[in-house]
Amino acid sequence: MRFALVGNPNCGKTTLFNQFTGSNQHVGNFPGVTVSIKTGKIRSRANCTVVDLPGIYSLRPYAADEILARDFIINEKPDCIINIVDATNIERNLYLTLQLIHMQTPVVLALNMMDEMRSNGGSVDTAKLSELLGIPVVPISAAKNQGVGELAEIAYETAARHIRPKISDFCPPGPVHRCIHSVTHVVEDHAERQGISPRYAALCVIEGIEDITKSLALDENEYELCEHSVLEMERETGLDRYAAIADMRYTYIESACARAVKRPEESQEHIRSRRIDNILTHRTFAIPVFLCIMLAIFYLTFDVIGAWLSDLMAFGIDQAAALVDRGLTAYGINPVVQSLVIDGVFGGVGNVLSFLPIIVVLFFFLSMLEDTGYMARVAFVMDKILRKIGLSGRSIVPLLIGFGCTVPAVMATRTLSSDRDRRMTIFITPFMSCSAKIPVYSMLVAAFFPRYRGLVMTAMYVAGMVAGVVFALVSKKFVFHGNPIPFVMELPNYRMPSMKTTLLLMWEKAEDFFHRAFSVIFVATIVIWFLQTFDIRLDVVTNNEQSILARVGGAIAPVFGALGFADWRISTALITGFMAKEAVVSTLSVLVGKLEIISLLTPVSAAAFLVFVLLYTPCVAAVAAIRRELSSTWKAGFFVVLQCAIAWVCGAVVYQVGSLLF
Ligand code: GDP
Ligand code: MG
Repeated sequence: MRFALVGNPNCGKTTLFNQFTGSNQHVGNFPGVTVSIKTGKIRSRANCTVVDLPGIYSLRPYAADEILARDFIINEKPDCIINIVDATNIERNLYLTLQLIHMQTPVVLALNMMDEMRSNGGSVDTAKLSELLGIPVVPISAAKNQGVGELAEIAYETAARHIRPKISDFCPPGPVHRCIHSVTHVVEDHAERQGISPRYAALCVIEGIEDITKSLALDENEYELCEHSVLEMERETGLDRYAAIADMRYTYIESACARAVKRPEESQEHIRSRRIDNILTHRTFAIPVFLCIMLAIFYLTFDVIGAWLSDLMAFGIDQAAALVDRGLTAYGINPVVQSLVIDGVFGGVGNVLSFLPIIVVLFFFLSMLEDTGYMARVAFVMDKILRKIGLSGRSIVPLLIGFGCTVPAVMATRTLSSDRDRRMTIFITPFMSCSAKIPVYSMLVAAFFPRYRGLVMTAMYVAGMVAGVVFALVSKKFVFHGNPIPFVMELPNYRMPSMKTTLLLMWEKAEDFFHRAFSVIFVATIVIWFLQTFDIRLDVVTNNEQSILARVGGAIAPVFGALGFADWRISTALITGFMAKEAVVSTLSVLVGKLEIISLLTPVSAAAFLVFVLLYTPCVAAVAAIRRELSSTWKAGFFVVLQCAIAWVCGAVVYQVGSLLF
């Protein structure tokens, strides 16, 4: 049996999903966290699965993730829909509930956040509400794991006995009622053939939801009949078609809530949130405050906590390498194998691993921002600025996720409802410096600018953003005409970040990093070690200048002459970076050793190198994600070439100008 979790964004669907399944999906205190469909097994009930869907406000979808959720309900026909309603926001949430009831599939209403509701003096007469809506209502608190077991039982019952909603008509007699009635009559046969409820189909036709209307395949005559009824209704009510239906639903919700719900006082959380927002979303202070917060995070991550932990980790890895080295020498092992283990594995993978703490610390802070609800404010505050460069405030969520990894960031653009905004955001996201580039920056900064760690790091992030802005402005002028569509996003209350969520996110990040270190980077390291150890006749070389790799890398190296690093070792490192950005570090470590990088570059060419790494092609996983989301190989390929060209030009400018100045 399969249950689907359906509800507004940020009402606690993923929290409930995690309680049901014992899994650890990402819960965030802002809309748009879940953009794909996740399935899991219910622990307390064998043979039952539950599906977490992206949040939707109504069944009239605009964005890709909303369409995903709606189509799942219609096409996959879950055995029971668990409709989660945020009790503290019940009127607006019930709008979707009424639509689900119209679909006439089994629905159970899970009234979530009851803990917050009760503690602020609110209450709900669930029996009454259940009677008024014709579906079971179960009060729960997903976060506190209250009522969750009971909910599973009731959902199971409802699904097993296939209990449909008892009421399907929420409309008092009048023009709207007449219209629904006559349209239902016309579309009935068509709807049943499609396996959707006639009343739901009728409402889709009245509201003008195109794809469903089209799938009904009405003939000309029937269509005219429907339009005629709708025009009649519009004339009699004086409202347009959408407003008339919305008005019908809200009127019913209002009267139901008046009878079954005692509203809570304004909650402490809300009062507190309003106070905090007076500062954090203040007209003039908001942006400076945001910049200060980001600066503080970078400073703490790169200069204080992360750097220290990272040095510690590097020390540990060096000790381990020395120990293994002594062991292998004592054992008298073949020197080529010894070189593979020490120079290849420890030198390459080990060096990359030593940057893990920095990344974990950065994610600790970012997850705090997200979980407290501040991230949602950032979207709100940045909207005006983003609009100027042709993006919508919603784009900020993917862009911020892009600081972590471009792959989920590109996927997060699914929350954007206009195709134009979405494509534009996908193109800007790779300019946000992802966390895999941190090891590269750290390695070069340690070698060339040790006294300006935090500063250079921040400069890298800012440079990426500036490049993104310029790219946006140019593409707005030439490619993406028109304006971003306005967005509405409610600001959730500030909450104390949950330790569990934070630790989980850090763990996820670390796991992902480990995974890459021991797969892609491990393999790349060994291949690089191999190619630099042997020449074309597979003899071991004494100097890696004679190796296979030197020949291949040397052929490409001249391309980077204008950037000040026409060295085969660097061009090879950049190529392996296409697999995973951290591989730039492992490759350089294998080829020149950790310390001797200083002999390859000057501070000016190091700066050009940093800029090139910041801007050149995203890694192969990100390119695949971009290709998938744009559904065009051609566009993705073009974008990769374009980014490399931009990186080359910017790197060359830095080197040429820098050489003149210093
Ligand atoms: P989704 O967008 O519907 O998947 O919502 P999430 O599961 O990501 O949760 C949104 C926010 O609501 C998170 O900050 C949760 O911690 C919080 N939350 C979820 N359920 C409850 C609850 O029962 N009580 C309270 N007080 N907070 C909750
Ligand atoms: Mg979610």
